[in-house]
Amino acid sequence: AQLANQIAAGEVVERPASIVKELLENALDAGARRIEVTLEQGGVGLIRVRDDGGGIPAEELPLALRRHATSKLASSGELMRIRTLGFRGEALPSIASVARLDLASAPAGAPAAQLLHGQSEPSPAAHPPGTTVTVRDLFYNLPARRKFLRAEKTEFQHADELLRRLALARFDVGLAWSHNGKPVQQLQPALDLPAREQRLARLCGQAFVDAALRLDFPAGELRLSGWAALPTFSRAAADLQHWYVNGRLVRDKLLTHAARQAYQDVLYHGRQPAYVLYLDLPAELVDVNVHPAKAEVRFRDSRAVHDLVRRGLREVIASGSR
Ligand code: ADP
Ligand code: MG
Repeated sequence: AQLANQIAAGEVVERPASIVKELLENALDAGARRIEVTLEQGGVGLIRVRDDGGGIPAEELPLALRRHATSKLASSGELMRIRTLGFRGEALPSIASVARLDLASAPAGAPAAQLLHGQSEPSPAAHPPGTTVTVRDLFYNLPARRKFLRAEKTEFQHADELLRRLALARFDVGLAWSHNGKPVQQLQPALDLPAREQRLARLCGQAFVDAALRLDFPAGELRLSGWAALPTFSRAAADLQHWYVNGRLVRDKLLTHAARQAYQDVLYHGRQPAYVLYLDLPAELVDVNVHPAKAEVRFRDSRAVHDLVRRGLREVIASGSR
């Protein structure tokens, strides 16, 4: 089982940032309103994610570390319409096979919290309602993989970039993170548009917000929304092309392609378009079970999705650039 978990970990856990992503997804799936992430040594030394979500019932705690034990799918039919970020039951066992993992959790209304320390039996602990997952010494048992990790600063940058992207997936959730004892970001839940644009400015820069057009483009069961910078916006920083499908941060060639075409349609000659875009559609129209890291998606009707993105985006930038 240990070996199987380590093999699965090879696909899920590439570096500290991948662990941060899985733990954040779990916190969001648990309905957290506030999430706090503590990183040390770029996340190689320590990653701690604390949430105020629904918690894990004591009797389910040991299950959380068992492979393919997920509380999120009741039937294989549900695999066709996934609404949670996780569903494979692979993240925690994979992480536990390549690092030292502690799990402390208190479901609302439970008499006491439970702590699971490595493979031992759960023991009572003090913990407010919610869950804290602590991951230490990444790849302590796999020196060959540990060697592939970059400098602490680089690993932190990857984790920080990921947290910034995830913070744009759920404006309604408060998210704070720190590195080596220093606060990096403290984002309050952003409920109205001004608050959301404030968060956007913190994470993508005020210049982007100033240059961005807000779009909200419903088309039948599909909806495209978010912010797209005018073609005149030119930016020196690294890529600012964020896609979220049903609240899930994705990397998708079809979406990126459609967006690039929209910009080309309005005679955009800049370097790289910049946007933060959200596509929402019924869960059964998109397959997220393509890769263990769940960053890729497949659309039932990719033509319709491509058309909507190209048309919706083109309309907005064309009207704004006049
Ligand atoms: P998955 O997310 O695919 O179900 P994971 O390995 O990421 O699998 O997590 C295993 C299980 O542990 C989840 O199905 C969930 O029941 C529980 N769990 C993990 N993290 C949390 C959390 N932060 N709050 C509540 N439950 C959690
Ligand atoms: Mg998960």
